[in-house]
Amino acid sequence: MDVATLIEGVLTGERRAVARAISLVEDGGEELPALSAGIFERTGVAATLGLTGAPGVGKSTIAGALVARARLGGMRAAVLAVDPTSPYTGGALLGDRVRMQEHATDPDVFIRSMATRGHLGGMALAAPEAVRILDAAGYERIVVETVGVGQAEVDVAAATDTAIVVLASGFGDAVQVAKAGILEIADVFVVNKADRDGSGQVVRDLQQMLHLGPKRAWDPPVLTTTATAGEGLDGLWEAVERHRTWLSGSGGLDAKRRARLRREVESLASARFRARAARVFDADPALLADLEARRVDPYRAAVILEDRAAGG
Ligand code: GDP
Repeated sequence: MDVATLIEGVLTGERRAVARAISLVEDGGEELPALSAGIFERTGVAATLGLTGAPGVGKSTIAGALVARARLGGMRAAVLAVDPTSPYTGGALLGDRVRMQEHATDPDVFIRSMATRGHLGGMALAAPEAVRILDAAGYERIVVETVGVGQAEVDVAAATDTAIVVLASGFGDAVQVAKAGILEIADVFVVNKADRDGSGQVVRDLQQMLHLGPKRAWDPPVLTTTATAGEGLDGLWEAVERHRTWLSGSGGLDAKRRARLRREVESLASARFRARAARVFDADPALLADLEARRVDPYRAAVILEDRAAGG
């Protein structure tokens, strides 16, 4: 499939083309810039939701429920399960697909797990491009699910319009969440597995922690759900829509997206520069030798590197 055909396929929402395009992002393939250029104009339409939290808290179950709500509203929906740490799709993500099987035969639902194999800037840069592919393909609600609560996951979740942070009793406490820098990025908190002992305590700890933090323009609600029984999920869907309405109304959505694009392009440019800089070092062992022999200092070497990298 050539790039033009691929782009055409994505824009008409052809599943096979969408799947291929996402693989191209994972691999960091040569045609990626052309693909990006071909679809960009048609993006920015979808509402993106991030789902992050420790493994086992119930993210996949909740993702499936959010997809079901979107479908009830007549919207096309996609789930992108992202593993920023593993270079290949692991077993956990395969399990996620099984839990979302009720949607497997729905032509208006697209579920895909993703890992990066060759993308220049890693998952933080690959994920937004994959989301744009789904956006351009006409999926109106895109759930981006991450596997854990590390920095990479936080970065991916922060790159969505509405970040949902999921906790559950017995899966790490609120302090861990605070440490991961997740409190700041959450727009909605969900304490899942409300059918289990200890979930009331998780809610109280979380509320206390939020109370201690700085006041924010949007006060993130703390909801409880029992995802497996379908309890609390209407409330979650409502909270997500309410956040989106608030964000659009306050001009925050445009600001958030503008900041996001800027950050993304800065990171992309840095990644490109870093790759070139490495090539300059590789091509000219003398530069490193000069540094090592203290003939050139690191600041001077950086300027030399910048000049040479800019030249090629
Ligand atoms: P993820 O790893 O965060 O995506 O979590 P999953 O959605 O895969 O759920 C992990 C396990 O917890 C599965 O066996 C689910 O059936 C179960 N689970 C999910 N939600 C609930 C809940 O509200 N209550 C209980 N008791 N189990 C749940």
